[in-house]
Amino acid sequence: MNVLVINCGSSSLKYQLINMNDESVLAKGLAERIGIEGSVVKHQAEGKEKVVIEEPMKSHKEAINIVLKSLVDPVYGAVKSLEEIDAVGHRVVHGGEKFAGSVKITDEVVNAMKECTDLAPLHNPPNIIGIEACKELLPNVPMVGTFDTAYHQTMPEVSYIYPLPYELYKELGIRRYGFHGTSHRYVAERAAALTGKDLKDLKIITCHLGNGASVTAIKGGKSVDTSMGLTPLEGLVMGTRCGDIDPAITTFLMNKKNMSAADLDNLMNKKSGVLGISGVSSDFRDIEEEAEKGNKRAQLALDKFDYTVKKYIGSYAAAMGGVDVVVFTAGLGENSKDNRKEICSGLEFLGITIDDEKNNTRGKEALISKDNGSVKVFVIPTNEELMIARDTQLLSK
Ligand code: AMP
Repeated sequence: MNVLVINCGSSSLKYQLINMNDESVLAKGLAERIGIEGSVVKHQAEGKEKVVIEEPMKSHKEAINIVLKSLVDPVYGAVKSLEEIDAVGHRVVHGGEKFAGSVKITDEVVNAMKECTDLAPLHNPPNIIGIEACKELLPNVPMVGTFDTAYHQTMPEVSYIYPLPYELYKELGIRRYGFHGTSHRYVAERAAALTGKDLKDLKIITCHLGNGASVTAIKGGKSVDTSMGLTPLEGLVMGTRCGDIDPAITTFLMNKKNMSAADLDNLMNKKSGVLGISGVSSDFRDIEEEAEKGNKRAQLALDKFDYTVKKYIGSYAAAMGGVDVVVFTAGLGENSKDNRKEICSGLEFLGITIDDEKNNTRGKEALISKDNGSVKVFVIPTNEELMIARDTQLLSK
């Protein structure tokens, strides 16, 4: 069975065609600048040269059409005909409280997704456009939706409720939802497999540290708390997002700087985080380079990031009454030995250790804790596409 996994952003579309017999990637690519000038698809089939297709793409439907053509192209394609695509799995960002797992997509499901749009106005609309485009172009192929929020629906009320008037939760759905769920689920399952233990017997803290970053507490295989909230703004310091701040800073800025809601949204989502502190970049590699040259604000941005992750690990160990496994994943988590070391330093009292030699690794699965450390610390590259493909295979039968 071949599953096409689609992840639609506002002007981009990532895809992978996965052969579920051996879970190998037959082709993958990225369509960029959809709806703007200079649109392009970068496509690569297994064992073939990467191709760059420059063609105007006014809509996601046009982009998907080009992707489908690329997949069956006699020279750089991966399959002979579209009939070899057996199912399509879509990443959907927000499933609200309606979706606690992946679902087969029906008209009813699409309507329910549309009802969640208020909670993710930037993310859900392109996800839904992608689903509708695929429905037109591949009308007889079953489709499945996998939600970033779904994994966290197991959180207890005490984790997800905000200390605001309870009516706001009931009326507007204001609560913690959490994101990156597919990634946290994947690495937790891999961590259990690597330790040779049942997920049900483990307390795991998964650190998804990329441009967007979140930490999740997983007890007995279930998400019991996570650092992102109603939106992906809460929690850790991120590339451009502020994460946790005193909420009164917003009203203070409104008064002092005459800022509007849109100004604040932009400030907290696009101009803050390590970019805001360092003034250098949102990319950790640039910041590390500047810090090495002696740039104090760049160093402060890194220190603040590491310190915040450390605090979350400590608080989630407290929330779960202990921790057996810590996992680092995503761009920074998989690649930056210095950040991993700094985050874990001082956590020896919890049994969390880093073996410098083992930690000298990047981009592959590795156990990086000391042999005598009671907590196993892993680097595990995430694979959200494979998770979506597995759910799609299961539900599209
Ligand atoms: P992601 O959002 O998971 O793609 O992660 C992207 C981020 O990972 C980038 O913005 C970088 O800051 C960070 N990153 C990737 N590779 C490295 C590396 N070798 N060292 C430090 N940071 C890295």
